[in-house]
Amino acid sequence: MANNSQVRVRFAPSPTGDLHVGNIRTALFDWAYARHTQGKLIFRIEDTDRDRVTDEYIQAAIDTLKWLGLNWDEGPEVGGAYGPYLQSQRLEIYAEWAQKFLDNGDAYHCYCSADELEERRQLQMKNNQAPGYDGKCRDLSNVQIEDYKSKGRKPVVRMRMPQGETVFTDAIRGEVKFEHLYVPDFVLARADGSPLYTLAVAVDDILMKITHVLRGEDLLSSTPRQIRVYQAMGVAESDYPIFAHLPFVMGQDNAKLSKRNGEVSIAWYREKGFLPDAICNYLALLGWSPGDDKENITMQELVDLFTVERVNSSPARFDMKKLEAINGDKIRALSLPDFLDWALPFLMKANVISGSDDEIALVKKALPIIQERIVTLGEIPAMLNFLFVKNFAVDPEEQPKLVEAAAQEVLKVALTKVESLEKWDHTSIEEVLRKALIEELGLKPRIAFSALRIAVTGSHISPPLFESMELLGRDGSISRIKSAISA
Ligand code: GLU
Repeated sequence: MANNSQVRVRFAPSPTGDLHVGNIRTALFDWAYARHTQGKLIFRIEDTDRDRVTDEYIQAAIDTLKWLGLNWDEGPEVGGAYGPYLQSQRLEIYAEWAQKFLDNGDAYHCYCSADELEERRQLQMKNNQAPGYDGKCRDLSNVQIEDYKSKGRKPVVRMRMPQGETVFTDAIRGEVKFEHLYVPDFVLARADGSPLYTLAVAVDDILMKITHVLRGEDLLSSTPRQIRVYQAMGVAESDYPIFAHLPFVMGQDNAKLSKRNGEVSIAWYREKGFLPDAICNYLALLGWSPGDDKENITMQELVDLFTVERVNSSPARFDMKKLEAINGDKIRALSLPDFLDWALPFLMKANVISGSDDEIALVKKALPIIQERIVTLGEIPAMLNFLFVKNFAVDPEEQPKLVEAAAQEVLKVALTKVESLEKWDHTSIEEVLRKALIEELGLKPRIAFSALRIAVTGSHISPPLFESMELLGRDGSISRIKSAISA
């Protein structure tokens, strides 16, 4: 196993879309491990498939990591001694290694066409044989090679897999063994010379001196092929990276979370108003635990406590309710200036405010009354809209509740009481209304205040009523009550 004294762990996504929950869980564990060990996090973009990995997705991946606070020591934007960190800029390196493997006899040219391979695969399946390359081009004679060439066939480069098995110790799963019968000779480079993932990932992990590969369990089966590339490169076993395959993240219904599902994309969570710390906190619990029942942890605690030994090997299930609960906790823990910074973009985007100083001052006063009540930042615009809306109107669905006789009675009494208030603050408003409606009229609070809440905020779901009235101001509140009475 790698004996370098400094840990070098990499996060190596192939961004073919927005990074999703599974990618970020991997990035988070990579980051936490690097920080815990005071090692280095290397961020490498695996973009050899440029038809699917676009510049836009690469930029989005970079932005997402930054937004989450998962900083890297080497990689895009920061550079480093082992770059470039975009595989598309390293094609010559892979081509050189593929050539070396051909020269050494570790790899060979394979001229089989896609149709021929498919035909033989069907036959294997029919005969209940292990599917995979059958070694047809392993030992072609010069005559056969010339014949293929004369027919204009272009070969792929295929790695020769020796008989036997690959055994390695996974830091999470323990000893893992792959019989080579099930690991057929595999393609390293396409006919046009472009490398495949297995070649590029293995070459880079060695050249970038990676000591630890923490990545998703879906890549476990590619490990024997990567180890085969290390061998062909002449790397001593003691210099192989240590592998640690993280458990799958399953959907709530136990199906695998998929990129196609919008809710797995981190961009979606960001838009809904989840805080990066909440996402990281929640994802940290998917397959790892801090050691007790504690569920709300800070990034620093994650760094302090993170060890691979505490990573579980069984699949973790994504639980939206738990993420929401953690997000609510993190929102409540924000200082007012931080909460304001998070809230303003949501209010501006929803056109609730345009960003004037007066509006911001009012938002600042309003935030403390909703901080306890929201689960996501995305709820803020609907909660505070009543304070800023130009042409106020009661939600049409709530309107019928206001015309009921009892509601009209409440509104009329409330109006005379608040109109005569000397001081317009929530305690005075509450005091006078409780006295008039609850004590004198004998109404139940929910009934007494529901009509008033709808009249003033437009909806029966709103921040606390008396605080809302204070913030809206005397004139605004009174005119809304009046129009609810005449309506
Ligand atoms: N680029 C690969 C992917 O996004 C992961 C590479 C690795 O971690 O080995 O699926």
